[in-house]
Amino acid sequence: MKYINEAKIEELLTNSKPVTSGEVDAILQKAKSLQRLSLSETATLLAVETPEDIQKIFETAAWVKNAIYGKRIVLFAPLYISNYCANACRYCGFNSENKLVKRKALSQDEIKQQVEWLLNRGHKRILLVAGEAKPAGEWSLIDYYINAINAVYSVSVGPHKIRRVNINCAPLTVDEFKQLKSAGIGTYQIFQETYHEPTYRYVHPKGPKSDPNNRIEAIDRAFAAGIDDVGIGVLYGLYDYRFDTLAMLMHIEALENKFNVGPHTISVPRIEPAPGVEFTEHIPYRVADTDFKKLVAILRLSVPYTGIILSTRETPQLRDELVNLGVSQISAESNTAPGGYTSQEKEYFSDPQFAVSDHRTLDEVIGSLIQQKYIPSFCAACYRKERTGETFMALAKPGTIKGKCSINALITLKEYLDDFASDNVRTEGYKLIEQMKTCLTDREQKQLAAFFDEINRGIRDTYV
Ligand code: SAM
Ligand code: SF4
Repeated sequence: MKYINEAKIEELLTNSKPVTSGEVDAILQKAKSLQRLSLSETATLLAVETPEDIQKIFETAAWVKNAIYGKRIVLFAPLYISNYCANACRYCGFNSENKLVKRKALSQDEIKQQVEWLLNRGHKRILLVAGEAKPAGEWSLIDYYINAINAVYSVSVGPHKIRRVNINCAPLTVDEFKQLKSAGIGTYQIFQETYHEPTYRYVHPKGPKSDPNNRIEAIDRAFAAGIDDVGIGVLYGLYDYRFDTLAMLMHIEALENKFNVGPHTISVPRIEPAPGVEFTEHIPYRVADTDFKKLVAILRLSVPYTGIILSTRETPQLRDELVNLGVSQISAESNTAPGGYTSQEKEYFSDPQFAVSDHRTLDEVIGSLIQQKYIPSFCAACYRKERTGETFMALAKPGTIKGKCSINALITLKEYLDDFASDNVRTEGYKLIEQMKTCLTDREQKQLAAFFDEINRGIRDTYV
């Protein structure tokens, strides 16, 4: 696979055992200076097995996360628009061989209804998700995506609109990526699934996705088209998590060398049961919860400035733990069936891609974050102020972005509390805002007070 030197990864994995506590301490010391770790240092941490050393990794990851991002956690909702697919991915409910799945491609009106529902819950950030097949009646897949993005941005509920649309979709050409950028896309997200080529070829037997290089090069084409916020990921459970984690970091190094900037985000999905998909009942490299926590913490240390995204594939308990270990963005109240958000009310109905494990409402997720003293954030300021790619990293590295993140998070939290929260969440949220204000400088507190005045006067969607 392009960019991936499998032999080097195998060598790092076999050479890095056993690890002494002294070695772990030295690497964690370096991580605390917020420097990137090398592949070999990351391999050493991945080989750590003693509970004491794992605990040290967790504590350092929490420290690094707080140093760079402060206490904010960004919230979003996926919006599945179509489950038609030409690929036969062995792990996915939407695969073309799955005859049990009810297929649906949402029309623009149906997309708008979903968006209205999400806006009424308080959501501001959407991740569009689709299978890889042109729905009947559309000119092309890219036209379908562009129309979907336009439909999302066109919806208003009172003063509320979706502020950032990201997309997770099949690889496109440079021209098509340019169209996505012009439509106002935030992040282009694509998971390599596994970087281990024999496994990749086995789990993707048919369809355009069966070519691993076309997939890995999609990021290069997105950059070439001017999209500089890209998201990558591994589908954990397909192959050895240590191999795939190192390989993803090798991919990141290659991107940094080529484009001066790595991915904006990393996602860490684990395989979940999918209706009609036997593969998901016998996951070949199931990642245990302890290993999963370890790998998330190690990613936070290895690439300190990259956002880490966690979905509702995970349980509430584990998600609560993982926000402490380095996760910076989470989805909430997700549904993985096209039309799923309103399917109880409307007759159109389709099947989900996989089963989610966190069924809490957005309000409950926000309540739980507040209880843990995290600031739930719907901020989309960086992308709208063109702080993307290298510009974003230049602000993130000296820690400058943290002040902006905190102010914007508090603004969006107050908007949520005023407009959507349940009574209890509102009360607790206001208390948290008062506590968090004390962490701001005098200048930042004045700035925030001016924004809060505006919110009290009914103005929405202001940011720094
Ligand atoms: N069809 C596009 C593609 O595959 O790139 C984009 C959408 S696909 C629905 C989004 C992601 O869902 C995939 O990249 C894969 O990692 C993940 N996924 C597929 N099946 C899954 C399962 N059973 N459990 C958890 N995640 C799954
Ligand atoms: Fe299609 Fe994506 Fe599912 Fe594969 S993972 S079957 S490409 S929707």
